[in-house]
Amino acid sequence: MIKRIIKYLFLIIGILLSLLLIILFTPGIWHRLVTYPRYEKEVAELAILRREPANQINLNSYRGVMHVHSYLSHDSRGTIDDIIPAAKKDGIDFIFLTDHPNGDIDTLPKGYHGYFDGILIESGTEKQGFCTWPLGPTVIDWKSDKDSIAKNIVSNGGIIFYAHSEEPHNWITPYYQGMEIYNFHTDTKDQSPLPILFDVLVNGNKYRHWALRQFFNPQTPILAHWDSLNSSRKIVGFSAIDAHENQNIRARYLPDGRIQWVGNNAHNIDTMEVKFWNKWLFSAPDKSGWVFKLLIDTYETGFNYVTNYVLADTLSTSSLSKNMKQGHLFIAFKSLGDAKGFQFFGTNAKDSIMGILGDSIKLESLKNLKAVSPLPGQFKLIHNGKTVSTSAEKDYEFNFSNKIEKGTYRIEMSLRLQGKLIPWLYTNPIYVY
Ligand SMILES: [Zn+2]
Repeated sequence: MIKRIIKYLFLIIGILLSLLLIILFTPGIWHRLVTYPRYEKEVAELAILRREPANQINLNSYRGVMHVHSYLSHDSRGTIDDIIPAAKKDGIDFIFLTDHPNGDIDTLPKGYHGYFDGILIESGTEKQGFCTWPLGPTVIDWKSDKDSIAKNIVSNGGIIFYAHSEEPHNWITPYYQGMEIYNFHTDTKDQSPLPILFDVLVNGNKYRHWALRQFFNPQTPILAHWDSLNSSRKIVGFSAIDAHENQNIRARYLPDGRIQWVGNNAHNIDTMEVKFWNKWLFSAPDKSGWVFKLLIDTYETGFNYVTNYVLADTLSTSSLSKNMKQGHLFIAFKSLGDAKGFQFFGTNAKDSIMGILGDSIKLESLKNLKAVSPLPGQFKLIHNGKTVSTSAEKDYEFNFSNKIEKGTYRIEMSLRLQGKLIPWLYTNPIYVY
């Protein structure tokens, strides 16, 4: 009798476990076989429609990622050997790092500065809800209050932008020059990560970018807040990938020959002897020494997910930072399509350019607002937070010559993919005064 009960109990547990596995893994398998190959095909078809617009604005366009963490942060192990190959693969020109500080005096001088295999890196810091790149010899004393830190950075020529715009901030502090209008980490907070984790387990390596894009939601409240802030002062919008390459399980050899396991947020899980029963898990070490990697997020996927395009004279910290502060910047979800070549500007009656995104233009001298895109999509012109003009769905150019008023004008562009219009690109506004 007892034997029979135990037998049935095992049977039921077995069936329930199998059902659970089917529920957890079926969506990922379906995506791998059907959905993601279709997405890949659509994106490839869209890329064929690319038309390089003539450069009308006398500045070059540089692709960059901002708000990125390396091993100098407590929650990342990323080194230059992980970061640079990823950036190379994604066509990234510059990386503005934001490592969490260590102790009361900032670690910036220890961070990466300069060109690495042609990619420009500038060190910065994320703490207390802001991202900062002091750009010079400024030493941040974390014992002083936030406003004093911000004032000190700005008066020494540095950059300070609000990070994590979903969190409460003292939004009226005048020193902050910008804010995140998209942060991948922010975007992950509004849904359960579990189904996506299983999707990545099935699709990682080949379709990780699509699996992680399931987190995407338009950041409508943040954009509305940005518009309202811009009605009273200039606040530059930028995108943050907040990449740490730390949602992973990895292992590497210690000098004493034991294996160290590292888990989520770069925490040490365990250190153990290598025995016959675990040796088969390990392969030859990569450049950072990892002999085992089960990756959820990677720098490579992150850098291609959302990208800042800065319009600047040269690929140098001075030119990039100057133009960032001016708002000569737009953001795009690059895995859907590369936005290099996109331009948004205002012209006068003689068709001369009076200013570009981020600039202020006098109402009397402004006749048209124009935008050109390398990929066909739908342009939306947003005036003081309200959509005032929408183009057809597959346009390369946008021209607005209706009555232009004072206030901010910015462009949002969407691409027709997956049977719907998907947000792709957001510009900084032109300020009409
Ligand atoms: Zn961060």
